[in-house]
Amino acid sequence: MTFVDLHTHSTASDGTVHPRELAQLAKDAGLAAIALTDHDTTVGLPPCNQACQEVGIEFVPGIEISTDPGPRINTDGIERRRGTLHLLGLFIRHDDEKLAQVADRMRKARDSRNPAVIAKLQELGVRIEYEEVLKLAREQNTKIIGRPHIAQILVQKSYAKSITDAFTKYLKFGCPAFVRRNYLSPQQAIDAIHHAGGLAILAHPVQLVMPDPDELEYAIAKLKELGLDGLEARHSDHTPAQVRQYEALADRFDLLTSGGSDFHGHRKPIEIASQNVPYAVYKKLKQAHEQRK
Ligand code: AMP
Ligand code: ZN
Ligand code: FE
Ligand code: FE
Repeated sequence: MTFVDLHTHSTASDGTVHPRELAQLAKDAGLAAIALTDHDTTVGLPPCNQACQEVGIEFVPGIEISTDPGPRINTDGIERRRGTLHLLGLFIRHDDEKLAQVADRMRKARDSRNPAVIAKLQELGVRIEYEEVLKLAREQNTKIIGRPHIAQILVQKSYAKSITDAFTKYLKFGCPAFVRRNYLSPQQAIDAIHHAGGLAILAHPVQLVMPDPDELEYAIAKLKELGLDGLEARHSDHTPAQVRQYEALADRFDLLTSGGSDFHGHRKPIEIASQNVPYAVYKKLKQAHEQRK
């Protein structure tokens, strides 16, 4: 069987592999196609595209945009935020103006949140300076600074055993150094992806944290109304049962499916190509994209 990986991150955001090296890594893993889906930036797309051509694999220009999942009323009647709603744009034009505006807004939201996270960590007695995070980003040559960068400093300084541990102790929603950043609405992200000629895919639906199937179905129906094109069924966070559940949901709502590892290099214990996404999944997406044009 031939496989693809349609969800990866590079040094252009919070991954640790350069977009050019990603192409080689994908080739070595035996993949026939990859998508680069960095958070809030398209700067890695041209070099990755070029490198994919050189090594002879197909390339899907992509992006990942975090959006506001909105307030939720829990069974206890208390409004509480939980879950994340990430949208992947696949087959986007890397130089679309509207998408660039969105990416710029998201970068500004990060740039105001990140120092606030550092301030909270300092209040907790953690000896960390924002400059250390900026230095890491400079070394990596990125403007997109994410919590994984902060987590890496926490690991380096022995405040956490691993990136995951840093999230669990400090950075995750509900943890002492969590700071909300401003997000776009799902509608704004879907519109920007469509403006750039891309397909809008709901990333890792499990992260919506909707164990009630009715609630999940309602959310998918709403997103479909907003223009959603597909669901990410295979993903490193999904169990085989969840993959089947999301494939069935996609079927029911006439949505495409996508799949990928969410590879971040050494910042996440996930291997490229680990989701065994069949080539046919890529082909269907590509056909849908071409029909759209
Ligand atoms: P940010 O976009 O800066 O809010 O950071 C989000 C990034 O942090 C994503 O790439 C996630 O993969 C990563 N992330 C989120 N939660 C965790 C977690 N619990 N453990 C490890 N990485 C996480
Ligand atoms: Zn990431
Ligand atoms: Fe994500
Ligand atoms: Fe991702």
